[in-house]
Amino acid sequence: MNQKNEKLIVANWKMNGTLEFSRDLAADLAEKWHTSSSSHQIVVCPPFPYLSITLNRLFGTKIACGGQDCSRHEKGAYTGEVSALMLKDIGCSYVIIGHSERRQHHQEINELIHQKAEIALKSGLKPIICIGETLADREGQKTLRILEEQLQESVPDSDQEFAIAYEPVWAIGTGKTATTAEILEVHTFIRAWLQKNRRKASSTPILYGGSVTEQNAQEILSLENVNGVLVGGASLKAETFWQIVRAA
Ligand code: PEP
Repeated sequence: MNQKNEKLIVANWKMNGTLEFSRDLAADLAEKWHTSSSSHQIVVCPPFPYLSITLNRLFGTKIACGGQDCSRHEKGAYTGEVSALMLKDIGCSYVIIGHSERRQHHQEINELIHQKAEIALKSGLKPIICIGETLADREGQKTLRILEEQLQESVPDSDQEFAIAYEPVWAIGTGKTATTAEILEVHTFIRAWLQKNRRKASSTPILYGGSVTEQNAQEILSLENVNGVLVGGASLKAETFWQIVRAA
């Protein structure tokens, strides 16, 4: 994850698909891996019920699996929740934390995201911590202030491996991608923040997410301090997702 040219390419399937869809998509990705293996770290994050079938179909490849969220609790009477230890137990290595859809629809705040990231690390998972500004924040010239607050309050002070995903809320699932200048500015800012505030994490991968496609992936991935991408919609087809992997 920390090697200089190795990118981290993460697929977020969100709440899409069926058992059959997940099995087939994972099998297609495994086939692509076997015919043109990649030196980049690829991670697939299916819905919880389809993690096992996905892990099963990816067996024998170096494609890793991750959860799309986890509980802040270790175990116990928390109906409906899935713990980081359970994800680790079934073979996951990553977990997405604080996705803007969790912040927006489940009122997740930085403090909770911090707790989830801590428990993920404690359980042996690599958390992918999402941050991003809304359109109102950007239009109000508050982007960097909001991002700094999110970094300060949600990123653990740890020498274990984690990743940061910069996902402008207005670019997720909208077909609007941030400009290369906007991505560069923010990624440089995040790198500088990590170097200053989390010295042990100065080589942490910083991912971009927000309407990444097979068309724009190469340009985005070639930018300085863009160490990978988090892909939603375009990860639901093996062919388009693999084109993004190849673009890296
Ligand atoms: C995401 O799920 O984090 C995401 C960036 O989605 P999309 O690629 O569809 O914008």
